Amino acid sequence: MPKYVYFFGNGKAEGKSEMKHLLGGKGANLAEMTNIGLPVPAGFTISTEVCTYYYANKRSYPKSLQADVKKLIAKIEKAMGAKFGDLKNPLLVSVRSGARASMPGMMDTILNLGLNDRVAEGLVKKTNNPRFVYDSYRRFVQMYGDVVLGLKPVHKDEIDPFEAIIEEKKKVKGVHLDTELSAEDLKELVSLFKTAIKEKTGNDFPQEPMAQLWGAIGAVFGSWNNDRAIAYRKMYDIPESWGTAVNVQSMVFGNMGDDSGTGVAFTRDAATGENVFYGEYLMNAQGEDVVAGTRTPLPISQLAKDSPKLYGQLDKIRKNLERHYRDMNDIEFTIQQGKLYMLQCRIGKRTAFAAIKIAVDMVEEKLITDKDALKRIEPDQLNQLLRPVFDLKEKESAVKGGRLLAKGLNAGPGAATGRVVFNAPDAEAWKKRGELVILTRIETSPEDIKGMDAAEGILTARGGMTSHAALVARQMGKVCVAGCSALDIDYSTHTMKVKGKLIKEGDWISLDGTTGEVIEGKVPTKASEVLQVLIDKTLAPKEAPVYQQYAKIMSWADKYRRLRIRTNADQPDQALNAVAFGAEGIGLCRTEHMFFGEGKIGPMREMILADTVEERKAALAKLLPLQRTDFEGIFEAMNGRPVTIRTIDPPLHEFVPHDEAAQRELAAEIGITYEKVHRRVESLHEFNPMLGLRGCRLGIIFPEITEMQSRAIFEAAANIQAKGIKVEPEVMIPLVGNVKELENQEKIVRRVAAEVMKEKGVKFKYLVGTMIEIPRGAITADEIATVAEFFSFGTNDLTQTTLGVSRDDAATFLIPYVEKEIYAKDPFEVLDRGGVGALMKIAVEKGRSVRSDLKVGICGEHGGEPSSVEFCHEINLNYVSCSPFRVPIARLAAARAALKDAPAAKAKAKKRK
Ligand code: ADP
Ligand code: MG
Ligand code: MG
Repeated sequence: MPKYVYFFGNGKAEGKSEMKHLLGGKGANLAEMTNIGLPVPAGFTISTEVCTYYYANKRSYPKSLQADVKKLIAKIEKAMGAKFGDLKNPLLVSVRSGARASMPGMMDTILNLGLNDRVAEGLVKKTNNPRFVYDSYRRFVQMYGDVVLGLKPVHKDEIDPFEAIIEEKKKVKGVHLDTELSAEDLKELVSLFKTAIKEKTGNDFPQEPMAQLWGAIGAVFGSWNNDRAIAYRKMYDIPESWGTAVNVQSMVFGNMGDDSGTGVAFTRDAATGENVFYGEYLMNAQGEDVVAGTRTPLPISQLAKDSPKLYGQLDKIRKNLERHYRDMNDIEFTIQQGKLYMLQCRIGKRTAFAAIKIAVDMVEEKLITDKDALKRIEPDQLNQLLRPVFDLKEKESAVKGGRLLAKGLNAGPGAATGRVVFNAPDAEAWKKRGELVILTRIETSPEDIKGMDAAEGILTARGGMTSHAALVARQMGKVCVAGCSALDIDYSTHTMKVKGKLIKEGDWISLDGTTGEVIEGKVPTKASEVLQVLIDKTLAPKEAPVYQQYAKIMSWADKYRRLRIRTNADQPDQALNAVAFGAEGIGLCRTEHMFFGEGKIGPMREMILADTVEERKAALAKLLPLQRTDFEGIFEAMNGRPVTIRTIDPPLHEFVPHDEAAQRELAAEIGITYEKVHRRVESLHEFNPMLGLRGCRLGIIFPEITEMQSRAIFEAAANIQAKGIKVEPEVMIPLVGNVKELENQEKIVRRVAAEVMKEKGVKFKYLVGTMIEIPRGAITADEIATVAEFFSFGTNDLTQTTLGVSRDDAATFLIPYVEKEIYAKDPFEVLDRGGVGALMKIAVEKGRSVRSDLKVGICGEHGGEPSSVEFCHEINLNYVSCSPFRVPIARLAAARAALKDAPAAKAKAKKRK
């Protein structure tokens, strides 16, 4: 016969903590605590299999269950020396739900079950404590009446019907606290409760203990499918098939007087991670009184003063639990007449700060290994450590005060406060005046770069997690809330309407990029400690405990990861930040952002508007020294680390103005007619620019551009090498789908390299490679690798071209797609392993089949996303490249991936370069 019930008590349990699938979290840990000798009141757990049976069989129980429950009640009776329903020495129990994962949507616990009018009288005789007995009885009728018999408030504004009766009673008696009610008052409450239940629900309160018990068990299983539980399961991906267990446990009483009480605690501080006992308790109380806020509970440190003996016992249990579970625990306990009992323990939830501190401390305490520590920290949690943060109390009070304006996507984590401006030039100008600004745009474009750089934070009304604003913000380490559709922005009047309020240019707002909240007015912020040490260099590591924890985690991550970590950086300052975060090279240096820099957009536009090769060459000649200086800055910042530079990629129309006024201005600037400018810009118009004249196609049609860029790169390399700094340029040709495209460009690059070496009389190492970002490139990777010395997956474009989805047009259907689970996650955020990933795998295998030392990396946004990093590890890439502020996340994600496939990793443990 299948086993449906599991006993725990008298120091021995049939279950253990590994049996959560059968016993639920609560039951499994009650069993475990029993087995390690902690004082747990005896009881038993009805397994989740009964729940499954219950729903598969029209809400009925397996045949053997009735007899099993009877048998185990007898076992509890024996362990406790009391009898269920007995008038002289009655056993009372609690009935507690317990799913595998803790689920607040589930049934509330019922305490003191087994009491009825006659048992209550018997218990009064036994304890000589009528107040305790009728306090327990009224609690029982109240909980049972609510949970099993269904007397609940009907409207959301209505107060709990039982509480209403208690309030009335207190008023009549002229008292404030429950504890001030007499035994007689409480006894009256019992009968008032019963009458209310009968009147409002038609149900009789059952007097027979066994009937009470089955009613409660049925209510627990029934609650698995109540609306709250279903909603919660959806939110946290808990499968319906898991089911819940039911725990029946003999009662211990915290409400027996002033030598009794109940409490909850964390074995360490769950907010800061500090190794202190952290919790609250209440004397002469039961169950949820501590959290319900009926009376103000005392801090656990008070117990040390009031009862050193009890505190000592509890502290011993705390250490015992941490040693046993090797983690921070969340516990519930009760004291009955000076004796301590444990009622629950589980691994405690914690903030990112606490997670990191606890992991590092526990390694030092030799409770866990450095590998365990890495496994316990989610890479994204590091974000919280890096970002400037709002003072949480200040933010809370702002939200409470009605200043929350809207919520958008949490695209760039962190906190920013500043004054609203509605365009990039204003952002720059205001910043120059020393103002803090929030650049607020419907959406951003490459032209806004400098304004974005000047802003404390970026707020957009449109665009997703990978929109221009989000992407650039992350690379710059800016706070960004994107796609905040509640904003009604009017550029012409420099105002926006939101939530019925009018926000004008210059008004203060605050962005929480970690949560996506937009708050009216100023909310004070603090810079993160890690940044103060690494980037601002305003704090010494010695004085920065959080930084020290971060540094330990990073050093452990570096010890175990096989993937190299590079960064996407276009400017020396970004590159330096990335190096401070641990980047080992640049995986993508986009040259187009450079063209927007000081003095460069003019010659760039001249080049684009040129009619003849000669004119174009003349414009390019002006650009050459400017680009060379940019590259020198980057090489110098990277100080010998490899740098991958991509030749020009975006369609040319992105570099020219589109409105008449600006076109006229440009015409005057370069001394040609407005009509000519206008005509040329019109001719650049494309129906689908993403698939138009861009990438290597530009360099093939206008070879002068590739030639100029190669020259700028190699002259810079030669100059920096002359300063005694090692240089390793890797020239990367974008958007290659056919080996002949690459051959065409490679020839130019190599010819220029040879020319520069000859002219300067020096030698330098360099590589020529390609981005793999369209499917044909991946599928013909064995041809392409005959020319390419390295591949870098441009997974933004590769996702667009593989899925046939334009990222910038995807918001309307991609969000519903994810809701309908057509794609589990946004494929622009989390790499689509089945499609894009499969192509990457093919490309790696085919590429290395013709060139065994082919260096392969990824430079799409996915390179800093933990699950995508794991995939890159699995398919054996050499490196991932991500925005500077995601470098620490990638380091940790790479280590976790390596630990996950530890046996395989050993065989190929050698780090590739
Ligand atoms: P939850 O899942 O909401 O935490 P529990 O089943 O843990 O619900 O019950 C809530 C509280 O009820 C416990 O923290 C404890 O104080 C009290 N309680 C539960 N069972 C017993 C018991 N057998 N004896 C005394 N108190 C109990
Ligand atoms: Mg609990
Ligand atoms: Mg691309």
